[in-house]
Amino acid sequence: MCRLHMDIYDVAILGGGAAGLMAAIAAGERGRSTIVLEKNRRPGVKILMSGGTRCNITNARGLHDLSVVSGPIDPAYDHSLARGARSVMDAFAPDGKFLGAALREFDVAATIRFFESQGVRTKIEANGKIFPVSDRAADVLAALVRKAERSRVEIRTNHAALDIESLSNRFLIRCSEGDVEAERVIVAVGGRSYPGCGTTGDGYAWARKFGHTIVEPRPALVPLSLQDPRWTSLKGVTLNDVKASVQIGGKIVDERREAVLFAHFGVTGPAILDISRAIARSDGSERAALVLDLLPELSIDALDSQIRERARSGKRSVASLIPDSIPRRVADELIDYAGIPHNRTGADLSRDERKRLVAAIKSLELVIAGTTGFAKAEVTRGGVTLSEIDPRTCESKLCERFYVVGEALDLDGRIGGYNFQAAFSTGRLAGRFE
Ligand SMILES: Cc1cc2nc3c(=O)[nH]c(=O)nc-3n(C[C@H](O)[C@H](O)[C@H](O)COP(=O)(O)OP(=O)(O)OC[C@H]3O[C@@H](n4cnc5c(N)ncnc54)[C@H](O)[C@@H]3O)c2cc1C
Repeated sequence: MCRLHMDIYDVAILGGGAAGLMAAIAAGERGRSTIVLEKNRRPGVKILMSGGTRCNITNARGLHDLSVVSGPIDPAYDHSLARGARSVMDAFAPDGKFLGAALREFDVAATIRFFESQGVRTKIEANGKIFPVSDRAADVLAALVRKAERSRVEIRTNHAALDIESLSNRFLIRCSEGDVEAERVIVAVGGRSYPGCGTTGDGYAWARKFGHTIVEPRPALVPLSLQDPRWTSLKGVTLNDVKASVQIGGKIVDERREAVLFAHFGVTGPAILDISRAIARSDGSERAALVLDLLPELSIDALDSQIRERARSGKRSVASLIPDSIPRRVADELIDYAGIPHNRTGADLSRDERKRLVAAIKSLELVIAGTTGFAKAEVTRGGVTLSEIDPRTCESKLCERFYVVGEALDLDGRIGGYNFQAAFSTGRLAGRFE
């Protein structure tokens, strides 16, 4: 068919995830003709599966007075708001500064107000995590789509963008289902993690085409696989309070105190996902080890005297000397790991054996075989290099009217709602183009 006329949109947004939908709302609200091209049958698939299908929207740690997030902002709370923004930037260390302008445009409080104004009541949970009261990620997505539609945004699903060409004063987006022309392009296609959701790293080739450098994408916020079958045999066991650290070349590079879960491949859970970012950042030239303190509440000396005290009763098995908060299955493996015969009684436990047992509990070193890869990584480390993107607008410094937002950028944050916050804030910023 010969096409005589093609509408030229003010902006085409490639990818209808968290960043793309928020960019579309910002542009549509201001009367810009806006189209979202989404590869999947529906937008926001990752939002639906996020936070165990509850969607941890953002994080209010640092916002000391949560009244700042409901109703008009009292200038007296400025300080608290600044702390909220700082805690988001800290979660993206060492690259958090890039988010400064985006957070000034759309901060944590603005995000919560946005969802509340769209009928999504929010609540705060441990560590500042914000969730919808309904615990339904579907409500978060529905609010974004509804607001986009009310802002006259056109969302075309089943429309994979295949390529972008630069025409004299606009872009031609080659699509699986018909091409689109727009004066501006916002690349919001995410990274490479969970490729089954449609995020297959498509934005990198387009960014390269317009002169950008891509920092090698790596899985981050990802479970770790372990070599030793001793630990994988513990699959299903959860330890709620563990201090997990990553040591690279013998130096601690990151640590986190949270839950750890044993699985058939190795370990996962919030503490592990967070510290996996450090592994994603290492170049692999030095040995990476995972060190777990299974009783962070107790000092080495306190644990040692507790075990000695229990051993005084003489008849107790070694497993029963270990504090009860450590499940029996784990205790048995620790005894084995410390090289203590299982038939040893408390009375026979030598000083050396006791010290080895304390060391196994307080600094259990596990050899990391690798990560479970992009298939199970919640985010991607790497992407479009930040120095080539203007943080005040998210526009490319190399190509006018070409924007990159969300996880397609070389930005990855801790768990806790920070990654959505970065996607919302950068999306919003780009969607407010002049
Ligand atoms: C299991 C899981 C749980 C998570 N839970 C949380 C959480 O609770 N809180 C949190 O803050 N973060 C969470 N994250 C991370 C968070 O989902 C991402 O950081 C965030 O979605 C990034 O937003 P984005 O818009 O940049 O990319 P995405 O949300 O990944 O959206 C990109 C969109 O682009 C589309 N797309 C890709 N290629 C093309 C193409 N060629 N043409 C058209 N469309 C295309 C994709 O289909 C997708 O819809 C989780 C991630 C996973 C995988």
